Amino acid sequence: MNKNSRILIHGAGVAGLACAIWLGRNGFRPVVVEKSPQIRADGGFIICLSGTSYRFADELGMLDALNARDSDIHASSYHNRSGSTLMQLDYQYLFDGVDFLQISRDEIENVLYSYAQDCAEYRFSLSIEKILRNDSNSVEVQFTDGSIEEFDLLIGADGLHSRVRKLAFDEAEIKQHHLGMQVAAYKLDDVIGLKNKFEYHMEKDRYMVLYSCRDGQLGCVFVWRANESYPPTATQRWDYLNGYFKDAGPLARKVLDNYPDTSPMYMDPLLQVEMRRWHSGRVVVIGDAAHCMTLLSGQGASSAFSDASYLCRALINESPEQAFSTLEQTMRPSITQMQESTRKAANWYIPGNRVRQLIRDTGMRLMPTDYFKGYFKKKYMKI
Ligand SMILES: Cc1cc2nc3c(=O)[nH]c(=O)nc-3n(C[C@H](O)[C@H](O)[C@H](O)COP(=O)(O)OP(=O)(O)OC[C@H]3O[C@@H](n4cnc5c(N)ncnc54)[C@H](O)[C@@H]3O)c2cc1C
Repeated sequence: MNKNSRILIHGAGVAGLACAIWLGRNGFRPVVVEKSPQIRADGGFIICLSGTSYRFADELGMLDALNARDSDIHASSYHNRSGSTLMQLDYQYLFDGVDFLQISRDEIENVLYSYAQDCAEYRFSLSIEKILRNDSNSVEVQFTDGSIEEFDLLIGADGLHSRVRKLAFDEAEIKQHHLGMQVAAYKLDDVIGLKNKFEYHMEKDRYMVLYSCRDGQLGCVFVWRANESYPPTATQRWDYLNGYFKDAGPLARKVLDNYPDTSPMYMDPLLQVEMRRWHSGRVVVIGDAAHCMTLLSGQGASSAFSDASYLCRALINESPEQAFSTLEQTMRPSITQMQESTRKAANWYIPGNRVRQLIRDTGMRLMPTDYFKGYFKKKYMKI
């Protein structure tokens, strides 16, 4: 693609900022549009970069900065409702030799932005309102402030509820697979004194995971069965979450009752996005916008980063059409496989009936640790 091309990146998340770095460093003229007033600092949940995305981060010279903010979590433990331990995992042993780092979402965004800042023009508090034209040469868009502009390419990196996906693709091309669950995440003062670990509390219809954050706070994620396709408004979230965990054990109650009003609460349904193709004319979608796998895959951020890297590296030497096909060929097989395995895993995270819960809990008690060593290596060396 012509190096001087103007490329609109919609969304300044993991995928969007990675695109800005690759494109800006290679002579393109990226413009990043983000609906939030600044780089989003909510969602203190932990994400990971592993395998291919870890190596791309290395190629971009960011690995030291990312590793310096590694969440330093060395272990996980799994417990049933009464608190007894089902399984314990030692991450230092299990991830030995695997390219893998864990970092909170706000910290990875800050690191990426520190590298991406000079690579692109940024426009915050702005979104695309309409796509006025999209043909084989360029795309014309109208922004929410009423301005109209033409770009050589539009990259939709705007996450699960992507506006670009909605505007540029027919509904018939998009399948949203609702796993029938919701997730909430927030941070609070560490009211339980957790050190360098994940602690999972697993029940039949819900689970909670607590983890220690680098800033000394406690991170918590709740997942439960619910069918709504959109989260409630920010002010209704705690009441809604509280309703589903009203009769939870004392630990969950402590974490809920100490929810600080000042901490933003992330909440969303677990939706997988499947698309027949990820491009249309001069528009391409990547990351969660193209193929959200949900947090249960543990690889959403990795795949967003890899998508951005494969696409933008290909744009340096190939036409947009060739680059779209490079992206599809390299990423789609693994994405399809991970979406399938995540759907199966969902039933073990939240079994929904006593029999499956018993099988899961017994399996966790009996599973040899070395099984996970092979499993993690295979899973996290790929994307
Ligand atoms: C609780 C939780 C735990 C997770 N754990 C893991 C994990 O362990 N490992 C892992 O790899 N992944 C994990 N994930 C998934 C991971 O966070 C996502 O897959 C990843 O952030 C996707 O990156 P993205 O850039 O595609 O989208 P996002 O990070 O969602 O970024 C999209 C950006 O676009 C912006 N945007 C949205 N709409 C518009 C609009 N209309 N106009 C302009 N801008 C817009 C948003 O504000 C945001 O900045 C987890 C997710 C959750 C919720």
